[in-house]
Parts: sequence; C-alpha cells; structure tokens
Amino acid sequence: MKRILVTGGAGYIGSHATLELLDAGYDVVVVDNLSRGHRRAVEPARLREVDLLDTPSLIRVMQEAPVAAVIHFAAYIAVGESMKNPALYFRNNVAGSISLLAAMQEADVRNIVFSSTAAVYGMPSVVPIPETLPYAPINVYGETKVMIEKVLDWFGQTQNFRSVCLRYFNASGADPAARTGEDHEPETHLIPLLFQAIRTGVPATLFGNDYPTPDGSCIRDYIHVSDLARAHIGAVDWLLKGGESRKFNVGTGAGYSVKEVVDAIARVVGQPVPHVWGPRREGDPALLVADSSKLQGELGWSPRDSALDRIVETAWRWYNR
Ligand code: UDP
Repeated sequence: MKRILVTGGAGYIGSHATLELLDAGYDVVVVDNLSRGHRRAVEPARLREVDLLDTPSLIRVMQEAPVAAVIHFAAYIAVGESMKNPALYFRNNVAGSISLLAAMQEADVRNIVFSSTAAVYGMPSVVPIPETLPYAPINVYGETKVMIEKVLDWFGQTQNFRSVCLRYFNASGADPAARTGEDHEPETHLIPLLFQAIRTGVPATLFGNDYPTPDGSCIRDYIHVSDLARAHIGAVDWLLKGGESRKFNVGTGAGYSVKEVVDAIARVVGQPVPHVWGPRREGDPALLVADSSKLQGELGWSPRDSALDRIVETAWRWYNR
C-alpha cells in the first residue's frame, strides 16, 4: 500500500482528500499543526501534530515509513487577512512550504501535489480561464501561491522533483456522507455564511449587485470539495506512474452568480435566506470560471458532485450534523 503524506489533512479540503485517498486504497499520514484545522477531522493514529516550519520533525515523519508522495494543503487562505498580516502569510505559506521541500529533499521524497488557487490569475483577461494566462495576483494570498509554484519549477529543474499544482476555483459542499465538511473560523465563504443567516435570522451581506453580469452579482465556479479531492487522487496517480510536472485548473467550467446561489439555497433548504446587498468587496473580479479541459483530458478527471443543488444539499446536511 503506497503511503501519502498529507499536510493540512485536518482542514476542509485536506480532510476530504484524506477520505478519498483511503477509499482509493492509499495509506495516509497527516501532518497538521491544528492552528486552523480540527483534531476531530483526522483519525488519531494518522495525525502527526507538527508545524511545517519544523523541518527535522517533518523528516522524521517521512522516515517512519516510505512516503511515495506528498499532498501539500497546509496554508492560510483568507485574502483579507493576508493583506492585513502579510508576514503571517509569507511565513506560513511560503517559508512553511520551503521547509517542507527541504525535508522532502532530505528524505528523498520527490513527488508533490500542491494546493494552488485561481487567485494566481488576479483579474483574468480571458474567461473561461486557461492555465496559460500569466501570473497576475492582486493579493498577498495569491502571491504566496505563485511563489511556491515557481519554487516547485526550480526544484523540478535542479532536484528532480515532480509536481502537480492544482489551481482551485470555489471549493464548496461537503462529504455526501457528512463525515467531514467546511468549518472555518472565522467563516468568510458565501455558502456557510448564507446558512448562518438562515439559522440566526441576521441577514448576510452580499458584496455588490452592480457588476457587468446578467443579474449584477459576481459569478464564480463552484466545485464540490469531493470532486476537488478526487482531482488530487488523479494527480498522485499521475506522478506515481511517472507523469511530468503539470499545472491544472480545477473547476467545472460553469459559473453561478451570488444571486443564483442564494436562490438555490432557498429552494434546496426550503427556507428564505435573509440577506442585504452591500457594496463590492475589494479585489473581487466580476467573473471567475475555469477552463479545466486540460485536467479532464490529461488526468481523465470529471466533476460528479458539482451541480449547484448537490453542493448546497451536501453542505446543508453537514451544517446541521
Ligand atoms: N460573497 C458575498 N458575501 C459574503 C461572502 C462572499 O457576497 O459574505 C461573495 C463574494 O463577493 C464572491 C462570492 O460570494 O463573489 C464567493 O466568495 P467567497 O468568499 O465564498 O469565495 P472567493 O470567490 O473569495 O474565493
């Protein structure tokens, strides 16, 4: 059984990917410092409570038993926070990743799947977005991901590392069996905030209805977290079969507006969603939709659970667990 080291396995996407890896027959060891993740999201025997900056401890985890590949999720993800506290983001996301790569080099583990983001494109000039657009991040969070994509290119050239960078669009939904789900503190994502509005009756603020889109609200590519998790299995399989380094968008190619998400929730949950329209949020492009034909063609991946109603239904089940 091939062993995969998952950093950030106690987090939202990492915990879903861990379940998919186990379902696919891989052995998994999780490294997480639990600064943002949840202890309950990982089986105790798999968890190594280690900080990414602690290179010697990472090496020890990789020497417990042979590791075939690393999937590196562990990172901070809040755009607003990254602008207020850039040092936190450069230290955790950039220095932490470099510490991990140093440990991998020392332990002779040379395959890595890296969590990247649509934020590497900034305000894209072409939609659906192809991977060939240049890097143009407009926030610190996106910049940290660009930096590590480039570092991975150099580790490829100089150290025989092979990497797959997966650029996520809007991860959403929850494990259909409600074994794990989305639980950020503080929560900044649209769907869980709309659920909170239903539960508390306090209206959610929606950021802008004056965009150049059909209904005036922003359009995003919502990808079910289980589909996203399965893209990581495909990426690991690719690397373990000897595939070359790749960068892939992970999205559905379909966009939904904020208003359409509100309407879908009202329909699926069967309750009104209290909300008010406020001003635009700084740094929000009107339209972000992935061209993921490269991922579909090269890894044979396709979304299964990403219909909007399915996303809402699974997220709601988890929210009310
Ligand atoms: N959004 C909103 N109100 C909120 C949070 C998000 O209107 O309280 C909008 C946001 O402007 C964007 C969409 O919902 O158009 C998705 O935002 P989210 O923060 O979930 O993900 P992002 O697109 O930033 O990765």
